[in-house]
Amino acid sequence: MSKVIVVGGGAAGMMAAVFAAENGHHVQIYEKNDRLGRKLFITGKGRCNITNASDVEELFQAVVSNPKFLYSAFYSFTNEQVIDFFENLGVKTKVERGNRVFPVSDHSSDIIGALQRELHRLGVQISLCTEVEKICVENEKITGIIISDDS
Ligand SMILES: Cc1cc2nc3c(=O)[nH]c(=O)nc-3n(C[C@H](O)[C@H](O)[C@H](O)COP(=O)(O)OP(=O)(O)OC[C@H]3O[C@@H](n4cnc5c(N)ncnc54)[C@H](O)[C@@H]3O)c2cc1C
Repeated sequence: MSKVIVVGGGAAGMMAAVFAAENGHHVQIYEKNDRLGRKLFITGKGRCNITNASDVEELFQAVVSNPKFLYSAFYSFTNEQVIDFFENLGVKTKVERGNRVFPVSDHSSDIIGALQRELHRLGVQISLCTEVEKICVENEKITGIIISDDS
């Protein structure tokens, strides 16, 4: 087991923390806001457009520049896996015009709530109102972080 520090408790940070914890690591999230997923709350006009249910190959056609960059990401954790992930956390989803996927409730807060519950279930430690100012590196290894004095 190693210690994993996640800087930022947005969508990416929460997902990274969930998967690191699932893989047996001791995980701590540092978030400068007073709550997790603040931006996620306003996404999709408050409904959170989770993913798109089109065929993965079709998704690449919608990427304006350098779609190859996303190849590994799209195939490592596909749109279907994203939907299954949230359904397994108890968030029912629906597909709308253009194959856009939303929670049935139309509330992005349900996505945030599901992720928060999963973080707690997995024992992820969460430090809110904590801004990481610097990541300390020695001999190409991360040795720690420095928290802003204002936090
Ligand atoms: C109006 C709007 C609507 C959108 N709608 C959608 C949508 O429907 N579907 C969709 O997929 N995407 C949507 N997006 C894009 C959306 O913002 C991203 O999908 C999502 O928020 C990206 O998550 P993230 O974790 O990468 O970044 P963020 O959500 O920005 O999370 C980063 C987190 O890191 C924290 N942080 C940053 N620096 C530090 C630090 N030094 N120390 C501690 N914490 C730190 C921030 O406070 C923040 O909480 C929308 C964006 C906007 C602006």
